[in-house]
Amino acid sequence: MQQHIQVTIVGSSNVDITALMARLPGPGETVLADSYQLSPGGKGANQALAAALAGAITEFIGAVGNDSHAGIALGQLEEAGVKLDRVTRASEPTGVAIIQVDSAAENSIAVVSGANSTVTGEAVQAAGSIEGILVLQGEIPASGIKAAMDAATDRIVLNLAPVIELDREYLLKANPLVVNEHEAEAVLQQLNPQLNLEFAGKYERLAGLLVDEGIDSVVITLGANGCLVADRAPLENGGAQVRALPAVKVKAVDTTGAGDAFTGALAARLANGDDLAQAAEFAGKFAALTVQAHGAQASYPRSLQNL
Ligand code: AMP
Repeated sequence: MQQHIQVTIVGSSNVDITALMARLPGPGETVLADSYQLSPGGKGANQALAAALAGAITEFIGAVGNDSHAGIALGQLEEAGVKLDRVTRASEPTGVAIIQVDSAAENSIAVVSGANSTVTGEAVQAAGSIEGILVLQGEIPASGIKAAMDAATDRIVLNLAPVIELDREYLLKANPLVVNEHEAEAVLQQLNPQLNLEFAGKYERLAGLLVDEGIDSVVITLGANGCLVADRAPLENGGAQVRALPAVKVKAVDTTGAGDAFTGALAARLANGDDLAQAAEFAGKFAALTVQAHGAQASYPRSLQNL
């Protein structure tokens, strides 16, 4: 029986090449690294895996190269049952993040978009209809993001990370916009360059201001401090209402990919009928499990028993 897709992610997939070394090389310098590993990454793929593991029937639309990295980039998604029929093979290589980490966990990262840069407006249009909740990030061209939004038939979760330029009319399609505190400030500045952020200060105010600008709902993630959920208050005043949801207290060993786990799990719960606050509470618990293990996709819970 054909199952209905509940969450569609249009976005990036990468292979992370991580080398561990005592200290990072300076310009023109070579250092001997101790070890390296290849692991699947990219915000789109991370979020697709999280959505599937959080219980949603999920499709990932993106692009990989015609190279040996493609299988690594998509391996975990395939295993989790994510639909991959509309992932294209580009002539560009599979996206890679080249990551150097020193013994103090300081890092330097170079990202080569490669095949992800082919997820353009034209490519997304050619892919056809989008089913279920649409989830987007800032790692594909803006034209691809806009085309996906134009094709969406359900609510749109926009995790604008990294923050890229999008027209106001598209920013306002987010429901919710999911951003960390720095990204929240950058988006607010795009919407209202005149605004003096000096006085905005507190994140609650930042979330409220984004809703006041016309975004239906906003989630600001705050790492170990949890998240803020903002939407329009019902009835008379129509202003923003902001709720703080604390994080689960855990011993974090590696927060890589925690934000992506949060966004994917949030979309999965929204697709299953939760309201935004309920979905964010679940997403916070899901993300808290991931920070207790190393890696991005490798740290995502394969069973929901502890949730
Ligand atoms: P971030 O992208 O760092 O803001 O993290 C996204 C979400 O992951 C947060 O809103 C939390 O729900 C969760 N999270 C991140 N870091 C921690 C942590 N140290 N302890 C518990 N939860 C965390």
